[in-house]
Amino acid sequence: MQPLLELKNIVKTFGTHRAVDNIDLTMQAGEKTVIIGPSGSGKSTLLRAINILETIDSGSILFEGNDVGYRQVKGKQVLDKPKNICKLRTQIGMVFQHFNLFPHMTVIENAMEGQVTVLGIPKAEARAVAMSMLEKVGMSSFADRFPASLSGGQKQRAAIARALSMKPKLMLFDEPTSALDPELVGEVFAAIKQLADDGMTMIIVTHNMGFAREVADHVVFMENGSFLAKGAPDDFFSKQCEDPRIQSFIDRI
Ligand code: ADP
Ligand code: MG
Repeated sequence: MQPLLELKNIVKTFGTHRAVDNIDLTMQAGEKTVIIGPSGSGKSTLLRAINILETIDSGSILFEGNDVGYRQVKGKQVLDKPKNICKLRTQIGMVFQHFNLFPHMTVIENAMEGQVTVLGIPKAEARAVAMSMLEKVGMSSFADRFPASLSGGQKQRAAIARALSMKPKLMLFDEPTSALDPELVGEVFAAIKQLADDGMTMIIVTHNMGFAREVADHVVFMENGSFLAKGAPDDFFSKQCEDPRIQSFIDRI
């Protein structure tokens, strides 16, 4: 089957530091990959590279079999067709640790914004889509609230609804619960679990092993820009954890 996403030999350097060092990853539609790994191992950079928030140095990214369009110019990778970026971004939703909601817009306006300005969807239709996504994450009763009046968990669920409103084919979550008080983590994971059960393809960076076990098809351990180990959760947590580097990481979190 045609993979939804294929990463081939992705490299991203900052100065002389290889933040992402030769990463390969293939995701079929509906698959869920959880990435764990120590701080600074390149997890966020990798997610940002997939969404082209970072330009990679080398390697290729294919979405639904189409090359995103990097080409070499004087030894540097540049994007061939900027329009591709825009299209790709609408198909890949991203949820960050720190919500990133527009503070001057209500929850529903946040979820309408991209639909109206990027996709050109009429406001009434955008509102209906936004509302259905807010319902999905249990946030419809907060539609007219401003982000400042919400708890962290509510903000994050609003951010998920906003991403979903663009009808993405792939969702990237970068430590979606790391900024939350512990008692709010469950509601956000429940919303993500619901999405997973609906068949969404997703890559989730998280340190929550319980969630990884429950939702992931694959768990990947990233260190120094590379994937050190990868496996189905049962396999990963039984066998791979014998690797002292992974064991000591898991013991620390
Ligand atoms: P993680 O998400 O696993 O904690 P990051 O992807 O944020 O790791 O960072 C990987 C490495 O790249 C780190 O050493 C970090 O300092 C470096 N890095 C990330 N973003 C930048 C940047 N914009 N400029 C320079 N170095 C960066
Ligand atoms: Mg990070």
